[in-house]
Amino acid sequence: MTQAREMYDKTVELVRKHHDWLKKSIPLIASENITSPAVREVLISDFQHRYAEGWPGERVYAGCIHIDEVEILAMGLAKRLFKAEHANVQPVSGLTANLATYTALTMPGDTMMCISIAKGGHISMGKREFGGTAGAVHGLNIEYIPFDEKRMNIDVEEAVKSIEKVKPKLVTMGGSVFLFPHPVMEISKVAKENGARVMYDAAHVAGLIGGGQFQDPLREGAEVMTCSTHKTLPGPQHGMILCTKELAEPINKGVFPGVVSNHHLHSVAGLAVALAEMLEFGEEYTAQIVKNAKSLAKALYDLKLAVLCPDLGFTQSHTVLVDVSKQGDGGTLEKKLENSGIILNRNLLPWDPKDGRHYKNPGGIRMGTSEVTRLGMKEPEMQEIAQFIQRVIVGKEPEEKISKEIAKFKQEFQKVHYCFESKTEAYEYIKIP
Ligand SMILES: *Cc1c(COP(=O)(O)O)cnc(C)c1O
Repeated sequence: MTQAREMYDKTVELVRKHHDWLKKSIPLIASENITSPAVREVLISDFQHRYAEGWPGERVYAGCIHIDEVEILAMGLAKRLFKAEHANVQPVSGLTANLATYTALTMPGDTMMCISIAKGGHISMGKREFGGTAGAVHGLNIEYIPFDEKRMNIDVEEAVKSIEKVKPKLVTMGGSVFLFPHPVMEISKVAKENGARVMYDAAHVAGLIGGGQFQDPLREGAEVMTCSTHKTLPGPQHGMILCTKELAEPINKGVFPGVVSNHHLHSVAGLAVALAEMLEFGEEYTAQIVKNAKSLAKALYDLKLAVLCPDLGFTQSHTVLVDVSKQGDGGTLEKKLENSGIILNRNLLPWDPKDGRHYKNPGGIRMGTSEVTRLGMKEPEMQEIAQFIQRVIVGKEPEEKISKEIAKFKQEFQKVHYCFESKTEAYEYIKIP
């Protein structure tokens, strides 16, 4: 056997191992989800070999007849699901969608206000000194929107004063640790009065918004909403921008030629399928995501874990945040949980930096219920998951014992729900004959 052939076999073996592992684990990463078999099918289509630079009907390349129709379909579905005047489905990721929006609405040297990373912002909104996209790539100055740590939300009163003083060119709401709807109405009003554009980063909550379970930023005053298409929205890894008619042209230019050349056409096809699923099943799916998050949070709290914001009902999204600083550090616990078959991530809490904690050993763990909900789990399963988590991080039970129990628990949850029927299982490795 040649070495190259061995390396090929090894690659496939590792990917298969990953699939087998997921079959036996509880996936709780808040930024992840699983696509339906129908989405996976178009992802491995010939679309992934093609180029279609430019706008449908005005491509730089030939061969786009069907690709154009699919992209127009995806835009139409996105506009319908989000009741948006304009949709651009070309960004290859949420970060790219943000960079395209900065490009469209600001010049390097302008100031953008957003929440800091420790308070739930994303590296794509980060300052230059942290290597963040907004600062280091587009040259924006970043000022932070005042944040109320107790309520895990923007402090409206302070934010209004701050926007009036700073007079930014762009105000960005949304984030990666996103428990409660942001005060988009109040902030948009003062931002616009002070000459700023308003953007809402819906990377995490796009699915909840499409399903009518969170807030509705485009009705509340946001002019642009950027999305990842694979977090609560159960599509392929990709990005999308929804905006007003007025901003359609600058946004389109910001995307192409701004930040994409090839825009991953197989993902556009996958997105179209996922958006169709959302129109059909999205309301029921996302309502259950939020119910499950609340149920998981309450169960963890009842097991004496320090879930954030108990007086506010813990969460109104897919995300649950727990302060684990009494049990250890987020990094060590993340690893223990991973070895036990529970996949989630450690997370900075707003007060971590001033307590000397760092992203490698932060005080928190974050979990999301999008994927477990998609597998058909409901409130009773959230109770079981909370118990598994408690037994690992408080009970310190052996990882091997828990992982065996979890593999058994997981056996019943091997199909993707809230999508068009298929015989293919959720984590099935699809071998092309
Ligand atoms: C995940 C995330 C992004 C980036 O999305 P990618 O699709 O991973 O590029 C941007 N903003 C926020 C708030 C996020 O959580």
